[in-house]
Formats: sequence, C-alpha cells, structure tokens
Amino acid sequence: MGSASTTSAQTCLTCSRPECVVCSESEDSVVLIQCDEGHPICQVCLDKYILSNVKKLRETDYLPAKAETAQISEDGATLAFLRGACSCPLRGHGCGAAPFGDRLIALNVSDLTFAEYSEGKALLPIARKVDQVVQEGSELALLMPNARMCARCHYGPVELAAGSCNDLTMHHGEVRAPGRAPDTHSPSEDAMDSGAIASSRFS
Ligand SMILES: [Zn+2]
Ligand SMILES: [Zn+2]
Ligand SMILES: [Zn+2]
Ligand SMILES: [Zn+2]
Repeated sequence: MGSASTTSAQTCLTCSRPECVVCSESEDSVVLIQCDEGHPICQVCLDKYILSNVKKLRETDYLPAKAETAQISEDGATLAFLRGACSCPLRGHGCGAAPFGDRLIALNVSDLTFAEYSEGKALLPIARKVDQVVQEGSELALLMPNARMCARCHYGPVELAAGSCNDLTMHHGEVRAPGRAPDTHSPSEDAMDSGAIASSRFS
C-alpha cells in the first residue's frame, strides 16, 4: 500500500494549521498523516474528507460504467474515488500517490467515519452485482421472450409457444438437471388441484 506515515512536523495542506481546528489545545496533539509523496493532512480534515467523499460517491449514478470509463482512460484518481478509496486531496492535482491504506485510515478517523468508509468501498461491487443480475435477466428475456418460470420452485423457463407445454403446474417440482433437487413445497399451494397434477404427470 505504500509508506504513508504520521508526523507532526508539517502543517495540514487542507486547513493550513499545525493544530487541529476542532479539538486541539496545542500543536503537540495534532496528528498529521502523509501520502506517499509527503503531502500532510490532519486527522480532522482526513475524517471530514472521507465523509464528504463517501457522500459524493453515494450521489454518483452509474458507478460500474464510470469505473470502466476511468479504467480505460487510465484515470487513476477517479477510479480510486469510485472504488471508495481515500487518496491524498492533491491526487489528480499533481499528486500520484496511492490511496491511503485501510489500516492507516482506521487508526486516524472515528469508528463512525471508518464504517462510512467501508460502506463506500462496497458501493461499486454492489452496483456491479446489481448490473449483472439485471443484465442476465434481460438476456434471458431476449432469448425466450415468452418464457415463464415458476416463481416458487424455479421450474422453467417454459416457452409459451403454440403446441408446447405451457402449464408450469405439470412440471411443478420436477428435477431439471443432475444434482438439482426439486423443492418440497406442495403443488396445491400453486393454486392447482393436486389430483389433477398427479394425473397429468403420471397417466
Ligand atoms: Zn487539517
Ligand atoms: Zn482534533
Ligand atoms: Zn499527495
Ligand atoms: Zn412450483
């Protein structure tokens, strides 16, 4: 992750003060975190910076598409932001340092901010997962526009083409593939007379 370290020798680049604007009584109590290129930021500013980044990230639409664009154009600063990583505030403005490591952030921000930070890092993977599910669903819909599946046992898809068997209740609970067990819910729960199903399956 790099060699980011803490020091109290410099002033915070963001608030330009050697002491914490919020809680510090003396210069000794301020802790400055440095990026790999040596740009200092104080704990208070880091905390606020992370919170505002996560807020921005939550308000960002189309995360997977934007991340892909950033990757293609090798825009590391944007990609790091979209991934929920916390970079030096000067990243993209002359600083090429790697994002701060999770451990460094955990040690220097509040528990609440760290929780926000962790949620921020999960946003892109979650958005990708959602996109994937939506895409798989629409691919299936394109392939089999008239297909229907049993919502309970997931038998199907069955195509509602002319002459084909389109009565899902006839297949209710069937084993579709090796290793795939039929579910155990009662066919009658699917609003069909179980006797009728039995006769259509076994006669
Ligand atoms: Zn500061
Ligand atoms: Zn403070
Ligand atoms: Zn930097
Ligand atoms: Zn079923």
